Amino acid sequence: IGRGDVPEMERADKEVSVAAMKEYYKQFDPRSYLRYNYIPPRADFTRTDSIVPWKLSCLHLIVFHAIGDVHGRTLIDIGSGPTIYQLLSACEHFSNIIMTDFLEVNRQEIRRWLHGEPDTFDWTAFLQHACELEGKGCSWPEKAKRLRTAIHDVIPIDVHSPNPLHPYSLPELADCLVSSFCLEAVSPDRTSFQKALTNLGTLLKPNGHFLMIGALDESYYQVADGVHIPVVPVDQEFVSATLKSCGYEICTFQCYTLPQDMKVGVDDVAGIFFVKAKKK
Ligand code: SAM
Repeated sequence: IGRGDVPEMERADKEVSVAAMKEYYKQFDPRSYLRYNYIPPRADFTRTDSIVPWKLSCLHLIVFHAIGDVHGRTLIDIGSGPTIYQLLSACEHFSNIIMTDFLEVNRQEIRRWLHGEPDTFDWTAFLQHACELEGKGCSWPEKAKRLRTAIHDVIPIDVHSPNPLHPYSLPELADCLVSSFCLEAVSPDRTSFQKALTNLGTLLKPNGHFLMIGALDESYYQVADGVHIPVVPVDQEFVSATLKSCGYEICTFQCYTLPQDMKVGVDDVAGIFFVKAKKK
């Protein structure tokens, strides 16, 4: 697999396999990915229609503030990548957070932030925004400390494995799973997406919650300069039906349509979904 665009033949012939997806990910560059997605306009905190403020408000307002039934001890973040924004609200409600990723480069990026090493991505504006949403007068350095304290491990994962955290043995099942832009971005097709969701279900307690954020109708995204990875296009109907078939009840489903100026040439995403589901 070389550099460049997604091979159209592979997509058309539906011959992209799980193994091929894993090969593609060898080209993932955490710094480039952060630069494509986590600076303005996609992370512009002066606008409520920017992507990141929308995601943070879903996680904070819908999940933790308005209803308040998502809590417990252990939360596993699936396919964390090099990002921590998805846990800013969760760290107030879970004391044992486990971050996971398939790639050591991403786990390393997270560990460097956890250890406060220099030259890591600057999450200050994200931390400040989360503090403002919570409105409890917490300062951003305090928030960073709370998150670092709550994160207990950063470990390998493969969502395509029936035992996704192997060889790690989980002392107890999770009360909550969080996943942002993972399943559709690592699955070659809808069948693999559904299998991956089934595999992840083994990590969650009955009555536990799955908070999933993902891309709508996306067919590729950029993971390094000039490198595109195929994404399986999904819509609300498919994500809801798949969650239900895996034994979840849908609590909330929200969709966001990308404003024109958020289309910055690093993917063809049409929108974003946020779903809160409960395992029956
Ligand atoms: N969660 C981050 C975010 O919100 O920006 C990163 C999402 S990134 C689009 C997809 C992530 O899935 C990457 O960090 C990648 O390394 C990870 N990944 C790739 N293959 C995987 C697999 N088989 N199992 C779990 N995660 C995988």
